[in-house]
Amino acid sequence: MASLDPDDWTTFRALGHRMMDDMIDRLAHARDTKVWTPLPDPVRQAFHAGLPHHGLGAEAAYAAFTARIAPYASGNTSPRFMGWVQGGGNPVGMLAELLAGGLNENCGGRDHVGLAVERQVIAWSAAMLGLPVSTGGLLVTGSSIANFIALLCARRRHLGTTVRHAGLAGAPLVGYAQAGVHRCIPGAFDMAGLGTEALRRIPVDAAYRIDLAALEATIVADRASGLDPFLLIGTAGAVDVGAIDDLTALAALAARHNLWFHVDAAFGALVALSPTRCHLIAGIERADSVAFDFHKWAQVQYDSGCILVRDQQWMLDTFAQQASYLTTTTRGLAGGAPWPCDLGPDLSRGFRALKVWMTLQAYGSDRLGTIVDDSCALAQRLATLIDTTPGLSRLAPVPLNIVCFRYDDGGTDLDAFNEALVADLQIAGDFVPSTTTIGGKRAIRVALVNHRTTSTDIDALVEAVLAAAYHRRDGSPHSSL
Ligand SMILES: *Cc1c(COP(=O)(O)O)cnc(C)c1O
Repeated sequence: MASLDPDDWTTFRALGHRMMDDMIDRLAHARDTKVWTPLPDPVRQAFHAGLPHHGLGAEAAYAAFTARIAPYASGNTSPRFMGWVQGGGNPVGMLAELLAGGLNENCGGRDHVGLAVERQVIAWSAAMLGLPVSTGGLLVTGSSIANFIALLCARRRHLGTTVRHAGLAGAPLVGYAQAGVHRCIPGAFDMAGLGTEALRRIPVDAAYRIDLAALEATIVADRASGLDPFLLIGTAGAVDVGAIDDLTALAALAARHNLWFHVDAAFGALVALSPTRCHLIAGIERADSVAFDFHKWAQVQYDSGCILVRDQQWMLDTFAQQASYLTTTTRGLAGGAPWPCDLGPDLSRGFRALKVWMTLQAYGSDRLGTIVDDSCALAQRLATLIDTTPGLSRLAPVPLNIVCFRYDDGGTDLDAFNEALVADLQIAGDFVPSTTTIGGKRAIRVALVNHRTTSTDIDALVEAVLAAAYHRRDGSPHSSL
């Protein structure tokens, strides 16, 4: 057998050390480089080369990485990356990825330490949110799949075991969430065979929280018309403005109407660790299931999402399968049941848990809670700056870490203008905000998630937006307003 291991470990070790130094340097200088650099055409072209039948060696592969990959990353390690809701990663998490790669664990099942680590991360997560010890869970790619798994558990509970062999068989299931629900929720209804129309999108109130009266009226009307309500989804940290539904009220409503109560807390779950804002997600401890991400506000490397289900038995009832070559035993490596492959859809699974576990071990949950508080304080600072700066107009309340605003000099082209402004900032490499639409108006959306961002970055962002706006309007320096 021609092993893939190097003939000369000494040379390989030197290369490994160089890679490590380069990546540590990169993090140490996360503030000093452009946030994002668009991929130049020749570089893009180079990625159309065919399958390499003959390898060039590790040195050449790393040279290609240094020249053609590293300079063009998306930039979310930068303190000035404020687009969408993306975590900045952390140094310990980076090294943990190396360690996990070294062990190369398959965490689909069997009795080994990777599963013990993952179970501890799940137990910590449940404790963080106030869920009981019966809680089961898995680390998955992200909240998109976590929300999908929750929907499947809710469907299985509602329809019984029949759904696993007979399918939906025309059952008229309907579920509920607020109008600002993340795109992956209708996506989950689609993938589960319910169809996106089975998701009822309930209007929000002035604070962008689900309108409870409209919700209850819709449930009652649906049931009266022969539909079968089965699932209520609360949102903790809505994508557009960061609003958190009244989860206590939703838990009571779900109990009253016999609905599975799921919370999409993709980034909002971390508010549980905030000393000043944890009250905002009160009620999450009553959820039947929660989806959230470690790769966003918890700063763990991508990808690391998490699904928690209040009673692990529902995961087993939904996903467990019999296969003779996967039979569990009480002795040997085939022990340790139940296995993760019986709690969710994946069989082979990487050691995702290690980077989460090491991040929590190294920094502690209090430190993450402080980051949540700091992000929210930066959002308040930005909101105040916008409110006191002529030419800038805030478009939504700021309950958490997201600020929606736009440049507004009374022009008639403000939607297109602000869209172009955001692209200008991104292409210049100075800042990466993103955009959304609030009340029909195109907005600049700033989501403060990165642990490296400081008040200096916030002040500089406002300056940069104004400078870019004046430049785009007439090239005059920024001071004319
Ligand atoms: C990010 C996000 C998701 C999707 O999570 P992924 O990790 O990107 O799959 C779902 N819901 C909300 C509210 C989000 O912010």
